[in-house]
Amino acid sequence: MSYLDKARVLHSFTSKELKEICKDNNLKGYSSLSKPNLIDFILQNLSEDNVKEILMEKGLISEDEVTDEEIIASLNKLRKIDNKAYLTYLLQSLNVKELRALCKEYYLEDCSRYSKKSDLLEYILDSLSEEEHQRVLYNNELEIISKEINLALKKINGEDRENIFEINIVNPENHEVEISFKGWNWDTKSYLSITPSNINDPERDCDCRTGANMGFCSHFWVGFILSLKEEYFNLSDWTLTKLPDNFEELIDSIKLSAARTGEERPRSGDKRRLVDESSDSAVLMKFLNNSITIYEGEILDIVERQSDFQGNVTIYYHITLKDVRLGPRVYRKSDFREEDIVGIEKLKIRISEKLQNDQKLKVNDKLSINGKLDKDNFWGILVKNIRKVQKL
Ligand SMILES: [Zn+2]
Repeated sequence: MSYLDKARVLHSFTSKELKEICKDNNLKGYSSLSKPNLIDFILQNLSEDNVKEILMEKGLISEDEVTDEEIIASLNKLRKIDNKAYLTYLLQSLNVKELRALCKEYYLEDCSRYSKKSDLLEYILDSLSEEEHQRVLYNNELEIISKEINLALKKINGEDRENIFEINIVNPENHEVEISFKGWNWDTKSYLSITPSNINDPERDCDCRTGANMGFCSHFWVGFILSLKEEYFNLSDWTLTKLPDNFEELIDSIKLSAARTGEERPRSGDKRRLVDESSDSAVLMKFLNNSITIYEGEILDIVERQSDFQGNVTIYYHITLKDVRLGPRVYRKSDFREEDIVGIEKLKIRISEKLQNDQKLKVNDKLSINGKLDKDNFWGILVKNIRKVQKL
């Protein structure tokens, strides 16, 4: 424990208790000292082990607490920026409440003065010693990184409330990628460029609060995974952050597919998609917001629904299809490619009241349709914009 560490823990004692410690240890000349001076007096006159013992007795530190040596050994020595600079990035992932909890943990008393996250973060990092910066990293780094990476994986799989809308290779030479995310009623744009010359602290920007201040937001990690799959860098060259031990395993099933094919060299404006081939809904994600053709699907059930928008009642039908074969919609026969066709166990489609009145669809009918694959916030993945139904 550093001097400052111990001083902060001793701060939680009252003046009376501090004087008792002095008395118990046969120290002289403390009776007129103020609390801060009493703390200094104790730290100057008692041995390191003696102070530790007192703190342990009070239950303020535990015997199995990690030592400074263990913490230093665990730190990433390859990182090229210093711990404080790194923490200003890393701690962007915490909200004000979590930062206040950190203040409490390190006995910082002036936290309540700061209501803005940026001020609070600056105050914390300026107040903590270099040893404490290391301790914060030791205790929090992997948890923060893992949380954001998991959220990134959910976005790739279509399991988050925000989806990847478009991945744009803005400038292939500089590895510049721009990723747009879409939520129910918001958009987020994220930018990343990882090159051999900036890999120690890559160029990045994001609309979200964490990423706007160079933090490692979930959007950053989507770009990171994309850049890795694009072979913009080798994972072994990445030293800026720790990664979960099973990171490579986690992203193994994620494949990169180009929305535009048949080109040898990447060009500016190329589109990409990240698809996790291990999950069924994720297979559909590569068609999200695109026109598709369902070549075959059998009706499993039909449910009538109503929506009421400002007094206008609309009737529509949700139909669940099973054993579905689908692919991207092609406008010329020569563009059809068998390898683009995927099989899905079940898929929901939405048709209008008029279409159902015309077609009188029923369970076990087999259909072929064109539509657009959409993600509805409430119903999930759904085929919409169906104008025509063909019974097979
Ligand atoms: Zn972000």
